[in-house]
Amino acid sequence: MRTPPTSSVPRPLPTKPTFRSFASSSSSGSSSSSATFSNPSKAHPLRLSKRWPRLALTLLGVTIPTSYYFFPSARELAPHMYSDQPVSSTKSISTQHKLVSIPIPSSSTSKEYFTKPYRTVGSLADVEGGEIVIQHMMIKSPDIQIERPYTPINDPLADGEVRLVVKRVQGGEVGRIVHSLKEGDKVGIRGPIPTYSIYPQNYDKIIMISTGTAISPFLQLLSKLPSPAPIPSQSQSQGQGHTQAAIPSTAPKLHLIHSKPMQGREDWANSLTDSSFLPSLQDKFGDRLQVTRIDPGPVPKAALVEALNPGSQAGAEKDRILVLVCLPPMLMRPLCGNMTPNLDQGPITGILGEMGLTNEQVWKLE
Ligand SMILES: Cc1cc2nc3c(=O)[nH]c(=O)nc-3n(C[C@H](O)[C@H](O)[C@H](O)COP(=O)(O)OP(=O)(O)OC[C@H]3O[C@@H](n4cnc5c(N)ncnc54)[C@H](O)[C@@H]3O)c2cc1C
Repeated sequence: MRTPPTSSVPRPLPTKPTFRSFASSSSSGSSSSSATFSNPSKAHPLRLSKRWPRLALTLLGVTIPTSYYFFPSARELAPHMYSDQPVSSTKSISTQHKLVSIPIPSSSTSKEYFTKPYRTVGSLADVEGGEIVIQHMMIKSPDIQIERPYTPINDPLADGEVRLVVKRVQGGEVGRIVHSLKEGDKVGIRGPIPTYSIYPQNYDKIIMISTGTAISPFLQLLSKLPSPAPIPSQSQSQGQGHTQAAIPSTAPKLHLIHSKPMQGREDWANSLTDSSFLPSLQDKFGDRLQVTRIDPGPVPKAALVEALNPGSQAGAEKDRILVLVCLPPMLMRPLCGNMTPNLDQGPITGILGEMGLTNEQVWKLE
């Protein structure tokens, strides 16, 4: 089953009582408990003990919302609600790109959103049958009412943190904010929100096509896919209790087609700066992961022919092939046609359409 990209509009999450409902229930008890304290010497011990739970609720009702405002970093990381989270590190990885790390709060609730993805109806769903969910986060401007989505490049749950690569574009507001962040600063963030859901075992081959920061969902997918061999030393030494399983025999082959940077620009995704960048992923998957680098500009048909019809196996895998495309509209259009204005997939046209691929085999990522 594929999960279509979600809207960036926050939806209410019908869960346990919120702090607000807790506070309001306790405030109803505050008047009677203050009467008890007006003359404690006259209070009957039995009556005081009966009122004790109300008093405790009142104190909690005052303390929790107060700490909520004065210590916002104590708040959960949640898809439906912004919280200010501390930035643990920032690093310029090119003249235009910054790598930003934001730890996931240690509470089980924050982690739950990474294990049980937030669905469009506002509920949490179990990940089952080997499903892997690519997720994104929303970052907001503290000054004006805008938010922008950013895709972690890593497996946040395994690493205990969200790592984002953010490009600064000319005149861009949220990019400017992220690029101004320093270690220890706080950033308004919500998430994770599902971008795309995949059952890898349903495919013989997964082809990913990207340019620039559009590689982020694929770096995340590759980070989340099981390793060919268990890597207990990495995950156990971090104490995350999240051990990646060995790749099953039904695992698909992986082929990433990613454009080189413009001449003179840093090839950050191909650097050793981060364990979720290509050299580490190539180490992780070995020859299961093929990486083709193309020149900036339209995706050449030859690269697609090579990925879709490798040598003698021509056509054999076509039914169980998935092509994930994450490109700006001007490059998406000649390759497979653009998404519709309301972000539906639209028909598969362009080179992939001419090669006979359909909406069953191609998924366009925003
Ligand atoms: C699901 C999803 C995930 C995303 N993940 C990432 C990510 O991981 N990293 C990342 O850097 N971005 C990512 N983006 C893009 C990001 O959300 C913003 O659109 C981008 O950062 C620009 O926001 P801004 O507020 O800085 O600029 P804006 O104020 O929105 O734009 C300012 C100007 O820059 C132009 N502009 C916007 N984007 C670009 C661009 N890419 N190149 C050139 N000009 C541009 C606009 O047209 C406008 O004229 C993602 C987008 C989506 C939909």
